[in-house]
This record gives sequence, C-alpha cells and structure tokens, in this order.
Amino acid sequence: MTNKRSYYKDVLFGVAVGDALGVPVEFKTRSVIAQNPVTDMIGFGTYGQPPGTWSDDSSLTFCLADVLADGYDLQKIANSFAEWLYDEQWTARGEVFDVGIATRAAIERIVHKVRPDLAGGFDESSNGNGSLMRILPLLFYIKDKPVKERFAIVKEVSSITHGHVRSVIACFYYLEFALKLLTNNDAIVVYREVNMEVASFLKGTTIIHDEIALFDRLLEGNIHELPVNKIQSGGYVLNTLEAAIWCLLTTTNYSEAVLKAVNLGFDTDTTAAVTGGLAGLLYGFERIPEHWVLILARKKDIDDLAKRLADKYERD
Ligand SMILES: [Mg+2]
Repeated sequence: MTNKRSYYKDVLFGVAVGDALGVPVEFKTRSVIAQNPVTDMIGFGTYGQPPGTWSDDSSLTFCLADVLADGYDLQKIANSFAEWLYDEQWTARGEVFDVGIATRAAIERIVHKVRPDLAGGFDESSNGNGSLMRILPLLFYIKDKPVKERFAIVKEVSSITHGHVRSVIACFYYLEFALKLLTNNDAIVVYREVNMEVASFLKGTTIIHDEIALFDRLLEGNIHELPVNKIQSGGYVLNTLEAAIWCLLTTTNYSEAVLKAVNLGFDTDTTAAVTGGLAGLLYGFERIPEHWVLILARKKDIDDLAKRLADKYERD
C-alpha cells in the first residue's frame, strides 16, 4: 500500500454512512424531498428506524468484508448472505427491514444448494442495483490482480445475486474506479482513465456491443456535465452507477456527495451507499462528519471489521 491510511474504514464507513442517511427517505420522489431536503442524519421516516440505522446495502457489504477478512471463498460469501436474511447476521439492530426481490430469490436458491455463481438471476429484468450496492470490499482482494482476473472475480461475486452481464459490468466499472482512487485523488482524472481502460477491456471480451453501448453515457466522459434532470435514481443498476459517479464528480467533499445522492430521491439509501463508498475513498474516513460516524449503529463492530481487513490485506 502507498501509505498508512485505512482504506478499509474509508470503504466500510463510506458506504454505511451514505446508506443510513438515505434510509429514512427511501422511495420518496425527488420533488417531495426537494420540499424538505435532507441535510443531516435523521431517523425514522420510511422504516421507522432510529438515526444511524443502515440497511441491506451495508449489511451485505459487511457480510462480504467479513468473509474476505479470512480469505476469498465464494460459497462462504453466499452463505453469509443467507445468514443475514435468516439469522440477522450483520444487521444494524437485529432486524432485516429492506430486502431486494432479486436478492431474496437468489438467497433462497443458495439455501437450496444452487451453486453461488449460478444463484443470481440472469435475465435482463434482473438488473437492479443489488450487487452493485454490496460489492465494494472486493476491492481489497482484487487490487493487485491482472484485469482479466479482476473481471472474472467481480463477475462471480455479482452473480451470487445478479448474474446478468449488465450488473457485472456496472460492478466492474465501480471497482475499477475505486481501484484508481487508491492511488489518485483527482476524481476527474480517475474518471477519464477508468473510461479509457474499461472501454478498451470490454471491447476485447465477447460481451455483445449493445450491452457495452448502454454504458456510453458514462464511458464518453461527460456524465458530470449533465443537468440533474438527466440523472435517474431508481433501483436500476445503470442508473445507480451513473448517479453515483455524477454525485462524486459534481461535489467537493464527502457530505456534499452523499447528501446530493440522497436528495435525488427514490432509491436514496443505495444511491448514497454507492456514492459514499467512492467518496469515502476519495476524501478519507477522517473527512466523514464525526457526528454521523458516532451515531452509526455498530460503529465498534465496523471498526473491528476494518482492522481485520487491514491485518489480512496490508501485510505487503
Ligand atoms: Mg437498502
């Protein structure tokens, strides 16, 4: 690693704080939120949860991170998702209150012994943001591997719940962006480099052109110039990825980025979680407002998880 900064805390708290900011207003439309914009960590609202309560996005992120802290094992990652859904593992306060349809169906298949890389839906309609929202800790395991291997690993971890190539490309793009943020803190430069490298990598694969073309708005390099009314923030994976990159590139600090994501409305917690992971890496854990971290459910457990990841992946 290049320095002693804890990228593990950047990622884990970056995701969870964004998630918790969005939970109370999930499903509210943009125009309804605009009447009373979110400017701080509030509680209750959509799920009646106290302030600092994160949802499935963070739970599954922590499940993945927890397994990775011992080493990469696809079956164990899949099993940990089932332990979340059925045994409340890595829930904020002992309760599962937000589950995606595709994620639930995939976990049911995992319990029925379907292979983890075949458990997620493969049809075009199964492209919600359910794998994108939980994929970021994979960064620590893939960061020193060659690009082909990175793509293959991202594909199988996405496929536990979301096996369609569109979800896989979205997760891959997101992780490639995060990877560059480990060594470069100029988000626009990172964006341009990721676009060039991801476009050239995808062209060299057998993925059909029409699927790659769906990412053109990102890959052409001008997403940050679009007005807010061109940015959608529902549960579709491509919309979430675009919205997150847009929020990151049009703001200058962590809180501005995640609040912008929340105030886009609709899938507020996931848009902010996905934005928050990158913003955590870009600005660092220390720049996340302290009162948001302090109020977060299970702060100590998240801290301990970050330490375990550091012990595992920072030996070099
Ligand atoms: Mg959620």
